[in-house]
Amino acid sequence: MLDDLSSQLTDKITDPGLLPGRGDFAGEGRLAVRDPATGELVAQVAISDATGARDAVDAAQQAFWQWSAMLPQHRAQILHRWHAMILEAKEDLARIMVAEQGKPISEARGEIDYAASFVTFYAEEALRPNIEGVTSHLPDAEMELWREPVGVAALVTPWNFPCAMITRKAAAALGAGCTVVIHPSAETPLSALALSELARRAGFPDGVVNTVIGDAATIVGEWTRDARVRALSFTGSTEVGRLLYRQSADTVKRLVMELGGHAPFIVFKGADIDRAVIEAVKAKFATSGQDCLGANRFYIHRPIYDEFCAKFTAAVEKLTLGNGMQDPDIGPLIHDRQIDKQNAHVQDALSKGAKLLCGGGVDEEKGPLFFKPTVLADVTDEAAIMSEETFGPVAALSVFDDEEEVFARANATEYGLVAYVHSLDPRRIYRATRALQYGMVAVNRTKVTGAPIPFGGMKQSGIGREGARQGLEAFTEIKYVCRDWG
Ligand code: NAD
Repeated sequence: MLDDLSSQLTDKITDPGLLPGRGDFAGEGRLAVRDPATGELVAQVAISDATGARDAVDAAQQAFWQWSAMLPQHRAQILHRWHAMILEAKEDLARIMVAEQGKPISEARGEIDYAASFVTFYAEEALRPNIEGVTSHLPDAEMELWREPVGVAALVTPWNFPCAMITRKAAAALGAGCTVVIHPSAETPLSALALSELARRAGFPDGVVNTVIGDAATIVGEWTRDARVRALSFTGSTEVGRLLYRQSADTVKRLVMELGGHAPFIVFKGADIDRAVIEAVKAKFATSGQDCLGANRFYIHRPIYDEFCAKFTAAVEKLTLGNGMQDPDIGPLIHDRQIDKQNAHVQDALSKGAKLLCGGGVDEEKGPLFFKPTVLADVTDEAAIMSEETFGPVAALSVFDDEEEVFARANATEYGLVAYVHSLDPRRIYRATRALQYGMVAVNRTKVTGAPIPFGGMKQSGIGREGARQGLEAFTEIKYVCRDWG
């Protein structure tokens, strides 16, 4: 079973059985998985083609009737077992994640906790009433709304949170009674395979959870064309989201789209600057900046601009960069396209008048994918970094004079996922919260996500919400039932 996996990873984990080395319905093709910190080959994973993608939908469709008819208590029990197994395997899952994704091991452990929290949340949601009474508008008739699972759901996930993006979707879909076909990113198939193996051990019946690794356009294209796939939940870039939105139109699928972000981070005079600096470092540099919630643009009120720039730069200069297994503050970026983007955004900003306060390029000693944590000051709105998602460890600081100006600049984007505001003035906080066109507004803190909150964006940052009760909506539909006793 482990023939395809190099010892590079297997000697670091205690349960090699978590690495089946092949996706479901895999054929002869192989995908090489490399450690972004070292460039070493971690594993060769057997992959599927279009036939495998169709076979997965066949299996999911067949399993749907049994799974959706199962008592919610039994579905919840299996989800609870999956949750317990994910936590028991936390260390192994974290190491697998670091080996293929590169993030610091303590962040990887945190992600496993976060990933598991969705499984237990939706195990409990599965037990909530799924029938609602309606006050009748007809004589002698009684009316109900039944909430029913839509059928097979396709889940397509990115590499930056290789476990949490899967469980946030899968737990909701499975708890609702859907069966799932999952396509993880080519960079991080091993985390997906490990979660899938744990799902098998937890007792999901055959065909309920199907993980298909392979060429994204081929596999996901097959699913968007397939009318049996009733829901598509996608997390990734706005560019690919638009493509899948169009592809799903012909079969009118239910859609959840968690797309790009371009978060503004606004600090007003009178804010607790030291706290704002701590939160700004987290908002920018967690997951090496490769986070859809990552702050991209920092707008600082003129009276505190110099102080903030100095304190923030001092904090960033202390960040350590290194191999995720050694638990630095920042690990490598995922691939060279990410490095190219950081360099392009830095050079472009400098050419338009920005000043480099620290960092600014690759740390060659560490390796080609280690980008130094970077701070740019006096960045003008013409710089690409002020309108495009950077998705890396480059912070762009810009000064503002008044509220009207900063709200307009913060909203001048196609994105609307999250906005950060630092102030101690309640009226200002209220005005900012009202003015900012974002699905999530975080005031005086950074980490605001969790299983009980509806995560998602406005504008081209997405459609629908994940987490919370709202996370079930795309996986269920309402059947109106009217019974006449007259
Ligand atoms: P991506 O859009 O390139 O890829 C995401 C997924 O789509 C991967 O599984 C990939 O294999 C698949 N994919 C790529 N091309 C495809 C195609 N032509 N057809 C079908 N599927 C295709 O994104 P990424 O680079 O993996 O992730 C980074 C992006 O994800 C950023 O824009 C980030 O903001 C976004 N993101 C959003 C959230 C959120 O919750 N809103 C969370 C994490 C990441």
